[in-house]
Amino acid sequence: MIGSATSGRFETLRRKMVQQQLGGIVDGRVRDAMAMIPRERFVGSVMQPRAYEDGPLPIGAGQTISQPWIVARMTELLGLDGHEKVLEIGTGSGYQTAILAALTRKVISLERIGDLARSARRRLSDLGLSNVTVLASDGTMGRSDYAPYDAVIVTAGAPAIPERLIEQVVVGGPVVIPVGDAKSQVLLRLTRTPDDDSGHVQWREERFENCRFVPLIGRFGWKEQ
Ligand code: SAH
Repeated sequence: MIGSATSGRFETLRRKMVQQQLGGIVDGRVRDAMAMIPRERFVGSVMQPRAYEDGPLPIGAGQTISQPWIVARMTELLGLDGHEKVLEIGTGSGYQTAILAALTRKVISLERIGDLARSARRRLSDLGLSNVTVLASDGTMGRSDYAPYDAVIVTAGAPAIPERLIEQVVVGGPVVIPVGDAKSQVLLRLTRTPDDDSGHVQWREERFENCRFVPLIGRFGWKEQ
């Protein structure tokens, strides 16, 4: 289904992207998903010729589709084996969502901008990815009605660790999130550990690359300008 919907020219560019840009990404399942999902379908027609460049691209509403490498890196840090229910915050174009959908059982993806949520939903269904639910809502609150999740990924930059999200992942599950100021963040993996005696959520923190994402805006994120 997905393969037949793509043209040869983009397929060549996609293969090159995987070979040339995904240095350090060792998870074979992640590399395969990046080689399969047609990134050109997640940008507007003007940006399509640039779909396999090594960087982010504008997707409208002041937002961006993330650089391929960071998409692969964050996905790898989730350590998915195919059985998980994943919460994604910051659907944007839906590209990262498609990679997750190819690699796991179920994806709940939250986007605060209704227009982006709608177009992502359409792209994902056009590709036949039916294990995804895209909802227009403030992801800083998570989505307790679908919780608990086996893993959480946030693809917008947070000013601080939103504990609410860790409360919605299972013990042992990861929350991968960029945290920092508006201009630069560090990629964190927070792994939930058992609650303390008073029932307060606990986690272990690992730090990875520096990165730069658009701001996570919402109740437990940055305030809207
Ligand atoms: N993974 C996406 C990245 C999109 S950029 C892609 O590759 O296309 C980050 C997205 O997060 C933007 O679309 C922005 O609108 C969204 N966002 C920011 N704050 C949010 C929030 N509180 N809840 C849900 N989405 C949010």
